[in-house]
Amino acid sequence: MSLKIQNIIPQIQAEFVGNNSTVSIDTISIDSRSLQNGSQTLFFALVGSNNDAHVYIKDLIEKGVQNFVVTHIPEGCEAKANFLVVRNTLEALQEFAAYYRGLFHFPIIGLTGSNGKTIVKEWLNFLLSPDYNIIRSPKSYNSQVGVPLSVLAINEQHNLGIFEAGISTGSEMEKLKPIIKPTIGILTNIGSAHDEGFTSLEEKIKEKMLLFEDSEVLIYQKNEIVDSFISKKAKAFTWSFDSKDADVFVFSAAIKNDSTTIQYRYKGDSFELTIPFQDKASIENAISCLMVLLYFKYEGKTIQNRMELLYPVEMRLKVKNGINNCSIIDDSYSSDFQSLKIALDFLESQNKRQKKTLILSDIFQSGLSNGELYSKVSQLIVSNKITRVIGIGETISSFENKFTNCVTFKNTEAFISSFDDLNFSNETILIKGARTFHFEEIVALLEEKTHETVLEINLNAISHNLNFFKSKLKPKTKIMVMVKAFGYGSGGLEIAKLLEHHKVDYLGVAFADEGISLKNGGIHLPIMVLNPETTSFAAIIQHQLEPEIYSLKGLCAFLKIAEQKKLKHFPIHIKLDTGMHRLGFENNTIDDLIATLKGNQTVQVKSILSHMATSDDLEHKDFAHSQIDLFENLSLKLMTELQIKPIRHILNTSGISNYPDSQYDMVRLGIGLYGVSNDHEEQKYLENVGTLKSVISQIRTISAGESVGYGRRFMAEKPTKIATIPIGYADGISRGWGNGVGFVTIKNEKATILGSICMDMLMVDVTGIDCKEGDAAIIFGESPSVNYIAQKLNTIPYEILTSISQRVKRVFYRE
Ligand SMILES: *Cc1c(COP(=O)(O)O)cnc(C)c1O
Repeated sequence: MSLKIQNIIPQIQAEFVGNNSTVSIDTISIDSRSLQNGSQTLFFALVGSNNDAHVYIKDLIEKGVQNFVVTHIPEGCEAKANFLVVRNTLEALQEFAAYYRGLFHFPIIGLTGSNGKTIVKEWLNFLLSPDYNIIRSPKSYNSQVGVPLSVLAINEQHNLGIFEAGISTGSEMEKLKPIIKPTIGILTNIGSAHDEGFTSLEEKIKEKMLLFEDSEVLIYQKNEIVDSFISKKAKAFTWSFDSKDADVFVFSAAIKNDSTTIQYRYKGDSFELTIPFQDKASIENAISCLMVLLYFKYEGKTIQNRMELLYPVEMRLKVKNGINNCSIIDDSYSSDFQSLKIALDFLESQNKRQKKTLILSDIFQSGLSNGELYSKVSQLIVSNKITRVIGIGETISSFENKFTNCVTFKNTEAFISSFDDLNFSNETILIKGARTFHFEEIVALLEEKTHETVLEINLNAISHNLNFFKSKLKPKTKIMVMVKAFGYGSGGLEIAKLLEHHKVDYLGVAFADEGISLKNGGIHLPIMVLNPETTSFAAIIQHQLEPEIYSLKGLCAFLKIAEQKKLKHFPIHIKLDTGMHRLGFENNTIDDLIATLKGNQTVQVKSILSHMATSDDLEHKDFAHSQIDLFENLSLKLMTELQIKPIRHILNTSGISNYPDSQYDMVRLGIGLYGVSNDHEEQKYLENVGTLKSVISQIRTISAGESVGYGRRFMAEKPTKIATIPIGYADGISRGWGNGVGFVTIKNEKATILGSICMDMLMVDVTGIDCKEGDAAIIFGESPSVNYIAQKLNTIPYEILTSISQRVKRVFYRE
C-alpha cells in the first residue's frame, strides 16, 4: 500500500488536525503492541464497548507513530502527530477498506456460511496458488475488523483474492459487502451455528446472501431457501448429493481407510477424485473447492491431482513449552507475508524471553519479486527485534545476505542434522513454514516432551470475559483481577501479561512468592498480596509488591521493617472484616488502627477493602447488605479521621453481578475471568477458557462378566469397548468423578468413566463411539463444563479449576 493521508481524508470524511498531510502510509494498524508500527503507519484507534485504543496513542507517539484515526485527540497529544478525526473509527476503517477495494479489478472470491469458511479458503489458496498470486484473509480474519484489515493488504501484484465474511447478527453483512465486493460467491455449509443472532434459518440465509448481491456467480449446495434469495445478477452454480438438476451432481462419495472417492457428473460426463479425508464436513468443503476449479475451467485430471493433496488446516497459533526453557510458537502450516506479520505480532504479545528466534521457510505467493519480498521480510524482522533468523529453503538461502545473524539450510533435513549445533535455549522461537517443508518435525524436536495431557487456555476467551465484566462497570470503576493460585489454575504469568495489555488497574495474588514470580516475569502492574506473611515482608518491599494488612500485629511488624528501610509512603491495603470472619480489622480494632496510622509517613493507605461471604447467594441478600453498610461506615471513619482518599473495594465476581450499586472505586474480578459464573443467565455470555484434554492410550473390548480397574468396581453386563486415558487423580481429577458418575467427551460423545479413577489413568466406556487409539478425550471444557462437574461432585468450580496439577502442561492459544 502506498497512499497519501490527503487521499484518505475525504474517503473517511475526516477532519484533519496536524501539519503534514502528504505523508505516505504503508501500514494500517489497530494493534498497539505491534512492533511493526512506524512513522508510515496509520493507526486506527478502535473503541470497543469497554476497550478504547485512544489510551495507547501517547505511547505510540513516543515510539514514532505519527498518524492516527481518532474520535478525539487524547489529552497531552495535541500537535504531536497527525490526527484524522472521525465520528466512528471502526466505520472509518470499513469505509477506507471499501474505497481501497475499489482500486483493484481482479476476481475476488467471497465466502460466507456457518461452517467451513476458513478451510475452504485455505484449500482454495492451496489449489489455485500454482496459477495465481493470491491475497487471502489471514487465519480466520472474517469479522467487522478482520475483513477490512484483510482487504487492506491487497497490493498491485495480486491477481486473485479470497476473503471470508463471518457474521453473527443481522445488519453486519451490509458493512462487509462493499469491502469484499466478491465477483465469485461461495456459500459454505449453513448449519445451525450462531443461530442466536437470527430469528430463523431463512433470516440467517437472507442476511448472508447480501454478500453476493453483485456477484457474477454464486456457488452453493442446492437448496430451495437459497434459490429463493439469490440475486438476479448472480448466476447459480450448484452442486448436490441428491438432485440431478444441480450443475454438479455428486452421485457417490465412497469412504475407505483414510480417504474418500467422490464421483460426480458435470456437463454430461462423469469424473472422480479422491481426497485424504472421510468426514462429511471435509467432503462438503472439498466439493465447494471443486466447484471453483470447474468454474475456472480446470481439467478433470488437474483437479484430481491437486485435490489428492489436500491437508488438515490448523488455524490457531499455539504457544508451547520448549526444550531448555524455550517457548515455542507453532505456526508450521503456512508461510505468506501477511500471516508472517500476524505471527510476529503474536510473538511480541506472548514474548517472555529476551532472545527471539525466527525459523522461516521460503515464502510463497507474495505477488512480489523474490528480491523485493525478502527485503520486506528483512525489514519486518528488524522492526520486530528478532535476535536470530534460521532460513530453510532454496530461495531464502539465496537471500541470506539480506539478513543479519542468519543461518540458512537448503531443506528441513539439513536443518535437522545440524540441530544440536544450533543450541536452542532460553529463547522464544517462532516456527513458521509452508506445509511442504514439514516444520511439524521441527516442532516435535523443539517441544518439551511431557505426556499428552494438556490444559489449553483460550486467550481470546479471557479477553472476552474481561470485557464482559468491564461492560458492567461504571466508567470510573477500576478493576483488580485476581490471579492467585496460578491464575485459578490457568497459568499466572501468561494471563497477567494479557491483563497488563488490557490495562487492568491491579492484580491480586494470595502469597508473596506468586507476586515475585510475576514481577520477575516482567509484569509492571501493581500487585496486591492478600496474605502476606511476616517473613515475606522484606521480599514484598524489595519487589515493590503491595501487602494487604489485616491486623494490628501485621501492621506493626510491617511498619518496623519499613521504618528500618526508611521507606516513605509505601503502599498498603487495609482489609476490614465486615462479616466474612476470615481476615481483617474488626469494628473494635478500628480506633487502634487509626491511632497507629495517624501522621504516619512510612506507609500510605492505597486502598481499603472487605470481602463478601454471600455475594453469590441471593438468599442472603440482607446479610450482604449488612456487610456493605458496615464497610461503608468503617471505611468512611478511616477516611475522615486519617484524612485520606483511598480506593475502596468490596465486590468479587458475583458481587459485580448482584450488587452493582456497591462498586465503590474498584472491583476484584476472579472466577468470572476464567469463564465461570454461578448465574445461569450470565454464564451464557461468558466464553469457556480452559479445556483439559488427553488422548486415548489403548482400546479393548471386554466380555460380559469381566471387570475394569482396581477392586473390580465395574462389572460388564455385556460386551463393552473400553478406552484408557492417561490422566488420573494425581493430575487433579477427583476420584468421586469415577465409577459411572462422570464422563469425558470423545468425538463429541459422552464416554462414561468406568471403575475407579487411578493415580495416572482412567478408563471410559466407548461402546458405540467411532474412535481409535490416539484420539482426543476432553476431560472438561465446553462439555462437561467445570460448573457441571462441580455440581455433580458437590463442590465449587474454583476447586475443580485449581486442582489441576502443575504437571499438566498449559498451552495458550489465540483463535
Ligand atoms: C479470590 C478473591 C476474590 C475473587 O473472587 P471471585 O469469586 O473468584 O471473583 C476477590 N477478593 C478476594 C479477597 C479474594 O480472595
